[in-house]
Amino acid sequence: MPSCDAIVVGAGHNGLVCAAYLARSGLNVLVLESADEVGGAARTVEFAPGYKVSHVAHILNQLQTAVVRELQLKKYGLSYAASDLPTTALDLEARHLTFRGGAAERIDGDLADTERAAWSELRGRLVKYSGVLKPYLAKTPPRLRSGRMQDSTDLAALGFAVRRMGRKHMQEFLRMILMNVADVLEEDLSDDRLMGALAFDSVLGTGLGPRSPNSLMCLYYRLAGDADGMPGGLALPRGGMGSVAETFRNAAIAQGAQVRTGSPVRRILVDNDRACGVRLDNGEEIHASIVVSAANPKTTFLDLLGPQYLDTGFVRKVSSIRMNGRAAKLHLALDGLPSFDGVPESDYGGRFVVSPSIDHVERAFNPSKYGEYAPEPVMEFVLPSVSDPSLAPEGKHVLSAVVQYAPAGLKAGWDNARDGFYDAIMAVLEQYSPGLRDQVTSHELLTPDDMEAQYSMPGGHWHHGELGIDQMFMLRPAPGAAQYASPVPGLYLCGAGSHPGGGIMGAAGRNAASVIVKREA
Ligand SMILES: Cc1cc2nc3c(=O)[nH]c(=O)nc-3n(C[C@H](O)[C@H](O)[C@H](O)COP(=O)(O)OP(=O)(O)OC[C@H]3O[C@@H](n4cnc5c(N)ncnc54)[C@H](O)[C@@H]3O)c2cc1C
Repeated sequence: MPSCDAIVVGAGHNGLVCAAYLARSGLNVLVLESADEVGGAARTVEFAPGYKVSHVAHILNQLQTAVVRELQLKKYGLSYAASDLPTTALDLEARHLTFRGGAAERIDGDLADTERAAWSELRGRLVKYSGVLKPYLAKTPPRLRSGRMQDSTDLAALGFAVRRMGRKHMQEFLRMILMNVADVLEEDLSDDRLMGALAFDSVLGTGLGPRSPNSLMCLYYRLAGDADGMPGGLALPRGGMGSVAETFRNAAIAQGAQVRTGSPVRRILVDNDRACGVRLDNGEEIHASIVVSAANPKTTFLDLLGPQYLDTGFVRKVSSIRMNGRAAKLHLALDGLPSFDGVPESDYGGRFVVSPSIDHVERAFNPSKYGEYAPEPVMEFVLPSVSDPSLAPEGKHVLSAVVQYAPAGLKAGWDNARDGFYDAIMAVLEQYSPGLRDQVTSHELLTPDDMEAQYSMPGGHWHHGELGIDQMFMLRPAPGAAQYASPVPGLYLCGAGSHPGGGIMGAAGRNAASVIVKREA
């Protein structure tokens, strides 16, 4: 049987990051990817002749600076078509607000001075509080009551960081942490356009509405990210997200890892109660004393490993991880640049948000609780071909939108509802860009069910599992596997289903590698 030190199942960006760090530590690493290309949900796809798009993830806002630096990603090809992107919150009467700088530091548009001052004060608090959590994204969550010095130190450091903010901020931090974003925003702000856009950012990629408990937490996560060195910034990779995946692949190979595509893993093998390798779909078996799965935790434990190696309590916890995606992806091939009244040409390369108010987002969310799509969806979109002409034929453009809410396993079935949902999205977009529909020469709508099928992502969920407070930090993906190690010695997790969750971040892959190196050295 061929063998290596460590097998990584899945060449999504986290799998590649983990492989790069493991190889860097001197291990002989093999990455096995079921698809014919690397990247997982970070991929560039030609969806119509000559029109390419970042097929799932499309904006970089969380890629860890440490990962970029330590793996020398710029040397291996990381390049931005645009960074420091503005976000324009579109308004039907063309009273758009444009957020600039990291975390909406400045706002252009017709906004009352009192509202600006209130936002500046609230923003200061949000940025401060997300800053307390930020270092924990790049750390293994502590294990409660483990008796280990490191866990106690990490917990104490969190407590100390909160205390160091001073009494007023400490109380405020603790008061806000479990609040929903709507309540937080409505305490201080009153402008629907501003609150609508902020509420959208808090629920993007989740199964939450702005009035759902702990929806503020996801805004903290977003604010804790950065792009191209800018805290709270946004960036578009040159060549789409597939080029970012290539960068990770190059970095992993440069460290000595091998990457095999078109190699679906069927089983994780166990011998003497320890993971000992994998069997591929074609029957080939490869031995390794370390198996790291970048696939979703449910897939890893229930399908690839098998419940017979796990105790029933753990199996129950894994089976009940919530991971029903509610974000769809729309791609439009356009025969020219669409027009948005009142948006200066210089902002067409930025991000747009259609989310007119908190109530609008909540109303769009409500049907998804009952397995139905939003009749008036909310969305973010970019026109990446504005800053990266390689994505469309000359003079033509692509529009890439993440649209909510579109639940996985729609009650009516997505085959029946796909056209209706496309019409609903286009009806919204047409209000802001009349005539847009006539500019569309081709389109592609990916529902969570499509993403599950095409990307091996159960539920098509952004984070491989909901980012609810009961599925975060030391509870992610489930107690017993929250520190990347699993109940089966030698088997580890390194994907978005682990702390700190999804997004093209690389944190889970990096954190997992550091645990593995410490435990297996
Ligand atoms: C609609 C949508 C929009 C998004 N937009 C953004 C965005 O704009 N910005 C952002 O930062 N994030 C975005 N995300 C989130 C982001 O795409 C994911 O969180 C991220 O890609 C997860 O990376 P990963 O490496 O952990 O997992 P994945 O990218 O899912 O990779 C897992 C890999 O494992 C492979 N695999 C699975 N099973 C097996 C097996 N048995 N054998 C071999 N290989 C296997 C899969 O093929 C895949 O390549 C979006 C997600 C969605 C759903």
